[in-house]
Amino acid sequence: MFKILQKTVTTGSATVAYPYKPAVISEHFRGRPEFDFAAWRDARPAADACPTGAIAIRDRGLVRRVTIDYGLCVFCGQCADVSTDGAVRVTRDFELATEDRRSLVLKADYGLNDGGDHHHLIEDLPTRPRTPEPEEAAGKKVSAAIRKILGRSLAIREVDAGSCNGCELEIVALNNPVHDIERFGIHFVASPRHADMLLVTGPVTRNMELALEKTYAATPDPKVVVAVGACGISGGIFGVNYATRGGVDAVIPVDVYIPGCPPRPEALLYGILLATGRLASKRP
Ligand code: SF4
Repeated sequence: MFKILQKTVTTGSATVAYPYKPAVISEHFRGRPEFDFAAWRDARPAADACPTGAIAIRDRGLVRRVTIDYGLCVFCGQCADVSTDGAVRVTRDFELATEDRRSLVLKADYGLNDGGDHHHLIEDLPTRPRTPEPEEAAGKKVSAAIRKILGRSLAIREVDAGSCNGCELEIVALNNPVHDIERFGIHFVASPRHADMLLVTGPVTRNMELALEKTYAATPDPKVVVAVGACGISGGIFGVNYATRGGVDAVIPVDVYIPGCPPRPEALLYGILLATGRLASKRP
């Protein structure tokens, strides 16, 4: 017993300082792929390699439109591996949560050469992913918002609508001593009747569709819904098929989208902070 106490005292706190301080991210972490549209000479190899169709190409005459959808992206990095012109690189960005699904989509139009590669960039139409707030400001904001608007706590009901459980592993990590989400007064509850927020994972299997609708109906107003991961946003690698609906907003309204496959705990926390602001605006 004494040894345990001694170890506890000498170890100190294991909890990370994020979001009050920048997250410490492994150099091996793969986050958002970044596209230099002006330097991109040929998007076809990346589009062919992309396992989810996050990079889409549509040719009309001598004009090619390239669309990047971060809501479909699983951050595998294959587009960067096959792009020889250095126009695609994997970053460690993870603060991608957004209230606007459209802001996850970038577009560029190119003129084409006879060989099918890009002649020049005609127009770059990206709606850039939102610029994250400085971490310290975001951290203070959420603590203040939860205290002021929600009283002492934010209650989250997690709903697995057919996920592979990758997202659940990261959500569980929010509760461990390293991320310790309860320091913000945020806790998970077992019933939607006690929840302020639904955190939904999975492409929404048809078997879970009715359960999700009932869970939404059982959650008292005002409430917010957060779609987690590529599957929750768009169906991800599963898409829309005989067994899946292709994302949470195909079934219930979504307030915040958190890209990733799965999103790391800090990315989840960032999205939950963002959604807390949405909840605040729904309260009288
Ligand atoms: S990182 Fe995203 S865009 Fe690139 S190949 Fe993988 S899924 Fe497609």
